[in-house]
Amino acid sequence: MSSGLPSYDEAAALVAAYAAQLNPYGQAERVGLDQAHGRALARPLCADRDQPPFARSTRDGYACRAAEAAEHVNLAVAGLTRAGEAPGGPLPRQTVWEIMTGAPVPDGADAVVMVEHVEAEGGRVRLLPPRTVTAGENIVAQGAQARAGEELLPAGTAIGFAQVALAAACGYAELEVFARPRVAILTTGDEIVPVESEPAPGQIRNSNGPMLAALVSAAGGEPWILPTARDNAEALDAALAQSASADLLLVTGGVSAGKFDLVEPALARCGARFHFTGVRMQPGKPVVFAELPTPGTKRNQNQRPAQQCCFGLPGNPVSSAVTFLLFAAPVLAALSGRLDRGPRFALARLAEDVKGRPGLTRFLPASCTFGARNGELPEVACVEWQGSGDLAAMARSNCFLVVPEETERLPAGATVRILLG
Ligand code: AMP
Ligand code: MG
Repeated sequence: MSSGLPSYDEAAALVAAYAAQLNPYGQAERVGLDQAHGRALARPLCADRDQPPFARSTRDGYACRAAEAAEHVNLAVAGLTRAGEAPGGPLPRQTVWEIMTGAPVPDGADAVVMVEHVEAEGGRVRLLPPRTVTAGENIVAQGAQARAGEELLPAGTAIGFAQVALAAACGYAELEVFARPRVAILTTGDEIVPVESEPAPGQIRNSNGPMLAALVSAAGGEPWILPTARDNAEALDAALAQSASADLLLVTGGVSAGKFDLVEPALARCGARFHFTGVRMQPGKPVVFAELPTPGTKRNQNQRPAQQCCFGLPGNPVSSAVTFLLFAAPVLAALSGRLDRGPRFALARLAEDVKGRPGLTRFLPASCTFGARNGELPEVACVEWQGSGDLAAMARSNCFLVVPEETERLPAGATVRILLG
C-alpha cells in the first residue's frame, strides 16, 4: 500500500529542493536589537572598526617585551593603563607597564605576564621561574578578530544571543531583518472545539492550533490561527479561500483515508499541484505537500510568488509535530530568509532496544539526557507512548528517535540519530 509513496529521505529531498529556490518574502524591516532575536539578517553584518579596536590585554598583569621578561631580571614599572584609558607608552627598554584586562597594550610591548606570575617589589617586577613568556602571549592584536569594514555575518544568518552581542559590539542599535512570513494554521475536524469550551461527549480540544502556533513562532513565522473548519466540502472551500493570502498554509487533520478526510479533494478543487500525498514514515504517513495557485494576489514589490506552499499535516498531534519539523519548518526557514533550514538531527547512544517497522522510517518521542559526560554521546530512550495521539508522551519527550526504514530492531548501545525540536 505504501510502496508507491516516497521514502522519508526522498520526501525530505523534494522539500529541500523546493525550499532552495524560494526567496524570502516581504520587505526587510529595521528592528531594535532587543527585538532581533529569532529573526534573520537581511543585510550582512559588518565590522565598523577593527575588532578588537586596539591591541588588548586579556589579563591583569604587566605588558613587557617577552625577550626581556623571560630573562627573569628585575624590570622597572614605567606606567599603568586601566581599561578604558587610551594606550600608554611607548614602553621604554628594560621596563614593564602595569595593565588591566581589556586595556590597550602600550606601543613596544609584545606580551603580558600575569600578575600571579611575578614578584613585584619597590616599583620593580620580576617574572618568577620556571614561568616563561613568549611574544604575543595574553594579547589579542588589533584587528585579530575582524578588520574594519569586513563582513562578519552573511545575510540570512539567524539571530541568536551571540549575533545580538556581535551586532552591539559593532555599533548596530538596530538591525535590518527579513519580514516574518504569515503562516495560516487551519485545523479541521467536526470533533474539534476551542480550548475555552467544555468538550461535549465525543469532542476534543484543539491542541494542534496552539502547538503549531508555537512551532511557527519558533521557526521565524507569524502564526495566523483560523477558526477550525468542519469536515465538509463547503466549510473547507471557504476556509482555503480565506487563507489564500498567507505566505504558507498548514492544514491539520482530514488527510488520512477516512470517509470524512476531505482535505486532499478540497486542495485539488483549488488547483493544487501535489508534490507528495503520503510518505513512508510513522507517524505522519498521510502528510501532503502541495502548491496552490494564488490567482487573486498581484505580484507586488514583495515578490509574492503565484503559488502558495501548503502542507496537509495528519491530525494526530505527534504526527502534526513531526511532519511540521521535518517538512514545513525548512520551507518556513527559507521564506524567513534563513540560511540554516534544518531539520536538525544529532547523534546519541540508545539506552534500550527499539523495534523498527521495516518499510517506514519511524520518529518516536524520546528523551535524551543532553548533559552527557565528557567524551560520551548523550543517551536517548523512547518515551512510553500510546500512539500518535499521545500528547502527554510527547510533552515528556525532548526529541524524536529516528528508526531507519530498513531496521527491524535498534539494539541498546547503538549510535542513533535523533530529531531535535
Ligand atoms: P484526522 O487526521 O483528521 O483523521 O485526525 C486524526 C486524529 O487527530 C483524530 O483522533 C483527531 O481527533 C485528532 N485531531 C485532529 N485535529 C486535531 C486538533 N486540531 N487537535 C487535536 N487533535 C486533533
Ligand atoms: Mg479529522
